Amino acid sequence: MRADLHCHTNASDGLLDPIALCDRAAQRGVELLAITDHDTVAGVQAARDYMRSQLLPAFQLLVGIEYSSVWAHIGVHIVGLGIDDSHTATIEACRFYGKARRERAEMIGTRLTKLGMPGATEGALALAGSAQIGRPHFARYLLAQGHVRSEDEAFTRYLGAGKPGDIKALWPPMDEVVSWIRAAGGVPVLAHPIKYRQTGARLRRLVAEFAACGGQAVEVVVGRQVADESRFVGQLCQQNGLAASQGSDFHGPSPWCELGDIHALPAGSTPVWQRWVS
Ligand code: AMP
Ligand code: MN
Ligand code: MN
Ligand code: MN
Repeated sequence: MRADLHCHTNASDGLLDPIALCDRAAQRGVELLAITDHDTVAGVQAARDYMRSQLLPAFQLLVGIEYSSVWAHIGVHIVGLGIDDSHTATIEACRFYGKARRERAEMIGTRLTKLGMPGATEGALALAGSAQIGRPHFARYLLAQGHVRSEDEAFTRYLGAGKPGDIKALWPPMDEVVSWIRAAGGVPVLAHPIKYRQTGARLRRLVAEFAACGGQAVEVVVGRQVADESRFVGQLCQQNGLAASQGSDFHGPSPWCELGDIHALPAGSTPVWQRWVS
């Protein structure tokens, strides 16, 4: 099964609109696609309408989201797969994040002003337009203003983990996010565990606590992660009786991982998508 259960549109920090994303997924031979924008389902409707308008849709579309949350003082992302985007739990959550992300954008802007880079909040909001505002919009603004030579440098110097723009005080705890996903009929998936740069012991605790609070799957294969890392995450996943997910975390054409361009799940994994494919 060529499943890609993690990607972004321009409803959050992705570069393609939902229709262009669907076309690209079809061209790449994806058979099951979940759109998982950061803290919003705004991109889903257009994609769903587009797929429904086709006589022979190239793939099955799943409604998803990638929620921002915190666990033990680190920011963790929880993907919700197969959620009902019209459920009050989803609508309320997205409304909450819209407000929280605008507040966070003000806080990031204040910090950047103190560092000699004024106007970033307005600049990032303008670049985001109607999208859910995120740090990548700040990175694009800092690059456009010549404060940095690349978006990557913007993260390394100002926006990445532990830097002034890394504000996660507004995110809800992991167990709360898990309960919103379950309430909306979805499957909570712990996103990209390797990206949190934790010790093995901490990752074990994270996965165990995620399972204990109602989490049901872990992203075992994601983006450009190497096979050794996927095997390690696969073991954690199996030890906790969780299903395995996979996704590109595609945000746009190169340098991002391409849609559907991921290696297979390690042996012994229980694919999370079994419940959606007939
Ligand atoms: P936010 O959702 O506002 O917390 O921003 C997080 C997003 O920033 C991630 O989903 C990535 O898309 C992006 N990001 C994080 N680190 C980097 C980096 N080093 N270079 C480019 N983009 C990054
Ligand atoms: Mn992103
Ligand atoms: Mn993420
Ligand atoms: Mn993502």
